Amino acid sequence: MHNYDVVVAGGSVSGLFAAREIAISGFKVCVLEEDHEIGTPEHCGGVISMTGLNELGILPSIKSAYADIKEAEISSLNHKFTVSAKNQKVLIIDRREFDKQIAFQAQRNGADIKTMCRVISINHNDKNISSNNPQNIGSDDKHNFIIKTNNEIFSSKFFIDARGISSLIQTNRKGVLLSAQYEIYSKNFESDKIRIKFDSVRFPGFFAWVIPTGHGKAKVGVAGNAINVVPTIKRYLDEICSSYSTIRKIFAPIWVAGPTPSFIRGRYVIVGDAAGQTKPTTAGGIYSCGMGGILAGRSISQYLHGHEEKLFDYEKNWFSKFGSEFEKMLLFRKLIERLDNRAIDKIFDTISKSNLDEISNSTDFDFHSSAISKILGIKGITKILNALVGNELRRIF
Ligand SMILES: Cc1cc2nc3c(=O)[nH]c(=O)nc-3n(C[C@H](O)[C@H](O)[C@H](O)COP(=O)(O)OP(=O)(O)OC[C@H]3O[C@@H](n4cnc5c(N)ncnc54)[C@H](O)[C@@H]3O)c2cc1C
Repeated sequence: MHNYDVVVAGGSVSGLFAAREIAISGFKVCVLEEDHEIGTPEHCGGVISMTGLNELGILPSIKSAYADIKEAEISSLNHKFTVSAKNQKVLIIDRREFDKQIAFQAQRNGADIKTMCRVISINHNDKNISSNNPQNIGSDDKHNFIIKTNNEIFSSKFFIDARGISSLIQTNRKGVLLSAQYEIYSKNFESDKIRIKFDSVRFPGFFAWVIPTGHGKAKVGVAGNAINVVPTIKRYLDEICSSYSTIRKIFAPIWVAGPTPSFIRGRYVIVGDAAGQTKPTTAGGIYSCGMGGILAGRSISQYLHGHEEKLFDYEKNWFSKFGSEFEKMLLFRKLIERLDNRAIDKIFDTISKSNLDEISNSTDFDFHSSAISKILGIKGITKILNALVGNELRRIF
């Protein structure tokens, strides 16, 4: 039996950042990762802002940064507009390398990391805690956790669930969309432009994307509510590339229903995708899930230092940073789910050059609800939306 202060299940951004913070505070922490290598298999577009990276306390190495994004082209069936990233540096990173960089920070500070180590069961106070269902832990129950993996057994005061969306969807399938993302080579891609396409028939409730990774390479993806992703992505690729070759395909669920109501049950703490900390608009989570890990790691460390009352600072601080932004994003999501292609086209057609300049000057990549509110507040657009979804619109403003 290996004894730790904290055991973290899941060695991706949220788990690794949590472990880094706990190790920095001098506590014994171990990360258990089921895959054979940290960062692999990658299931991410890798888009993140430089301000987000700074806050996470990590500068991407040359190996992990692919591209510097200058603009995003956003299109509907018949119209398109471009928003430039004037205000903020936006990068595309290689998650395979990036996650290894975080792991190295955690290791250097004393964290243990074990790969090919799958958490099979978690016992607490002689009760088995089924995956992400820690209801039966009392809030002041101080029994240690016994964590069984495929090859070793661990005991710890705290258990952090950072197992990603797999933890969430066992209890709630409602907020899940299906996605496919292919890494391809084609001559058709600019290296500094992200493309997003809305089509309520092919990508209901979401969109298709092209994320350039340099030298003609890109990650092209589609997601939507109950769609068949294979023919959908094939058709989208045929539409945007005259020819292409594929080096990697991934199929992954994405979570767009916002955070779980609570992240803490006794000393069982949930972080990242497992806690629904991904943006409901884009399903981006490197920054918000990473911050979840950092805030959880710091609060747990405070608790272990004897300040037990500080544990709930994790939840309080995460919601005060992201809570109202995520609420607005959830409302935008409801709105977009109700728009058909005709309405989306009309909205895109109404946006003028001066509207775009204003939006480009003020867009914050990580907190983009104000930019979306600006678009929805444009005179002609408010009129269209009022007729379609008056109630939702009033709630947004
Ligand atoms: C197609 C796609 C594109 C995306 N693009 C972007 C983007 O461009 N920008 C952005 O910010 N976000 C993006 N995201 C979201 C981002 O990847 C996630 O929000 C982020 O990785 C969440 O990190 P996490 O640590 O919470 O969970 P995950 O990254 O899901 O990691 C969970 C880890 O737990 C491990 N695990 C699971 N079960 C067990 C077990 N029983 N025992 C041990 N280990 C286990 C898994 O192997 C995995 O390593 C994208 C997601 C998808 C699917």
